[in-house]
This record gives sequence, structure tokens and C-alpha cells, in this order.
Amino acid sequence: MPSVVGHFAIPLASRIPRAFPPRLLVTGLIASMLPDADTIGALFGIERGTLLAHRGVTHSLAFALVVAGIAVLGSRWLQVRAARAGLFVLACALSHPLLDLLTNGGPGVMIGWPLSDARVFAPWRPIEVSPIGAAFLSARGLTVVASELVWVVAPALMVALAARRAHRK
Ligand SMILES: [Zn+2]
Repeated sequence: MPSVVGHFAIPLASRIPRAFPPRLLVTGLIASMLPDADTIGALFGIERGTLLAHRGVTHSLAFALVVAGIAVLGSRWLQVRAARAGLFVLACALSHPLLDLLTNGGPGVMIGWPLSDARVFAPWRPIEVSPIGAAFLSARGLTVVASELVWVVAPALMVALAARRAHRK
């Protein structure tokens, strides 16, 4: 594993800061994790399967668009043009529910809200669903990380490298 990761990580790490100001990168990172803020709903008695329960409203395309809209409004602070801020943050925010669609457990994803309240999955679900909290530090947690490396990290790095190559030409 380190060979693959190390191979891609170093050239990527040295190139990314030039294309993406740190504020934009951090905002993208937050946008990609923000949908799971809905997990705190359980502490406040939000019932499973309802709009505000895990993988509900915050996992919709509409939510990702709102987050991207906020990035557009804040593009000056993010030190990039509005279109770039919006597209980058949209991709980050939307990647979260799209990846959840590919997991093999947990509740379905309300990706089509408000047009549809249906909780759905993709027909093909290769990603191991992540156990929550301390259970993550277990053999099962390792299986999840391995599964994510194969199905998420490797393809993402390949797309990033291909995009960079295309950009240089
Ligand atoms: Zn999620």
C-alpha cells in the first residue's frame, strides 16, 4: 500500500497548493464531510428514516448546491473566481452522498430530495460501510480502509493525475 499511496501522494501534494489556495482546500474538505453532521440528530431524538435523520436532507444534491452557492458568495475570501469556488465545492459536497450510495450498509441516501423522499443506493455497492466511533479501530475498520483505498482513493488519484496531464498539454 505505501508504495501506491506514496507514489501518487508526493507529486500531488507538491502541485495541489499552486492550483488550490489553502482556504479553498479546507473549505472543500469541510464540504465533503458536512453531510454527516446529520449524525448528531440522533442525540436530539430525530427518528431514523425521517428527513433530518442520517443520510437524509444533508445528503441531497440540493444540499450540495446550497453549499456550493455559499462558496460562490464567499469566493473572494476563498481567493478564487466564483465559478471555480462553486464547482470545486460542489464536487466536494456532492462526492459525499455519491460515495455513500456505493456503500454496502447503513440507511439509504436521500439524494433526490426535495423532488423525492426516497432513500436509495446504487445498484453496485463495493464500498464497505464504515463502523461508527471506536468500532472503527478494529479489524473491520481496517477492511473499510482497504476497501476505500481501492474504490475511492486510487480512482480519485488517477482522475487527478489525468486532469493534471491534460491541463499541461
Ligand atoms: Zn454520509
